[in-house]
Amino acid sequence: MGRKELFSVVLLTLMIVSGVVLYNTSINHSKQLIVDKKAPQEHPAFTQRELAERLAGSLRIPTVSYEDRSTNISVFLQLHEYMESKFPRVYRELFVHKLGEENLSLLFEWPGVNHGTPNDKPALFASHLDVVGVPEDTLDKWTVDPFAGIIDEEFIWGRGSIDDKQGVFAILEATEWLLSLGHKPKNSIYLGFGHDEEISGFKGAHFIAEWFKERSITIEYLVDEGMTLYRDFPIPIQELALIGLAEKGSVTVEISAHSKGGHASLSTKETTVDIVSKAVAKISDNPMPVQFSAASPFHKALEYMGPEFGNFALKAIFSNFWLFDPIIARLATMDSLASVNVRTTAAATMISGGIKSNVLPTKTTAIINHRIVPGDTVASVVQHDIDVINDPRVNVTIVKNEGLEPSPISSEVSPAFKLLSQSIREVFPGTPVIPSLFVANTDTRHYWDIAKDIYRFCPTKMTPSDLSRFHGIDERISISNYFEFILFYFQLIQNHSDLGTS
Ligand SMILES: [Zn+2]
Repeated sequence: MGRKELFSVVLLTLMIVSGVVLYNTSINHSKQLIVDKKAPQEHPAFTQRELAERLAGSLRIPTVSYEDRSTNISVFLQLHEYMESKFPRVYRELFVHKLGEENLSLLFEWPGVNHGTPNDKPALFASHLDVVGVPEDTLDKWTVDPFAGIIDEEFIWGRGSIDDKQGVFAILEATEWLLSLGHKPKNSIYLGFGHDEEISGFKGAHFIAEWFKERSITIEYLVDEGMTLYRDFPIPIQELALIGLAEKGSVTVEISAHSKGGHASLSTKETTVDIVSKAVAKISDNPMPVQFSAASPFHKALEYMGPEFGNFALKAIFSNFWLFDPIIARLATMDSLASVNVRTTAAATMISGGIKSNVLPTKTTAIINHRIVPGDTVASVVQHDIDVINDPRVNVTIVKNEGLEPSPISSEVSPAFKLLSQSIREVFPGTPVIPSLFVANTDTRHYWDIAKDIYRFCPTKMTPSDLSRFHGIDERISISNYFEFILFYFQLIQNHSDLGTS
């Protein structure tokens, strides 16, 4: 082939590629549902402030999770009593099952018209009753007393206001409201509130799941905490409702090295401190490979976001994954928020070794906490650590009881996902609903076997600066946002009756 022909071939290829890119961009329409219903503007019995006060009452009951539960059982019972006093219809008209350790977890059963028939498509709406504590040394950094349930002009303040008593109370408010209207669901509804989510749910949500297993009930879909409504993040969409289709797994490994010890003056070339430090550095410097394919929740997120971008270049990139996938994957690793979505992370969180400045350390250990992206496994992560350390003097072991595989990935095209999107958009008109990956863990780990699809979503509005309020200082939710939370469940519970009809 001559120069001229080569030039023609290159030019033709470029024309074809750009033609395909432009065509794909032009046909990449929004994946967002168009909704015609709208959520109500007000509650028939309570003002937004009164609803806020009902939630604030629960924040004054410090249901902190400790490994030794015996220290505060009565606090949880106090919360149960408070709930019963505020939601008389729920307690009268639904079946209440008290489950798990000391019967502290709650499962409400609301049988639908289809209950007990093969047509029933039950849903489980979940949240948790416990909270994390407030460390002594952060108390004075709070604007208010974290357990006083303070409400000011705009916000409800306190531990549990976004994680996760607002979920418990919003679900119950919506249920109480619908019961007062005589609503009877077509498909059954379960409300599940574990009492030990913050310490992994093995004594709470685990038993709620067992309850379903014993009765061979399969849940059509489950909604629990996780992703939220994100505002003002550095992406060219003002507000996004992200629904977690999956969550990352985790494994904690201990890296250790041993020696006979001796006086520091007799130092060998490397002490156990040197050996373990080098091993830690190798793990940090050699991350696991990127997991970014059409099946990745992050890939799906970008597919849904693409058509929402106003910027043409961005829209073109996210309409042509066949061409840009490798570049997107590369760019994702360079951004701190995106990179946790595409690869397993390694955080060196603890290190210890040595007892005295002039004694050679006999043992040094370091702890690495990995968060595992779907596509990797506990075993592949541990093997990766062993391979990159590549030093027979170093032991790599899984810390006892630590090892959770990444969750299964739920469907973003199921009727249930559609129902969820619809309910969100009835309360937040115009907000794009985007599937995504949740990078932390929830009680949903216990529900993998009983639910076909699991969605992690709360309509809490989060700006970048709000993220640190989770488990942190000045946890709060706005009064109006809490009302929207109730409306979301008010819509979802009603829409749930449509499942299986179309
Ligand atoms: Zn939580």
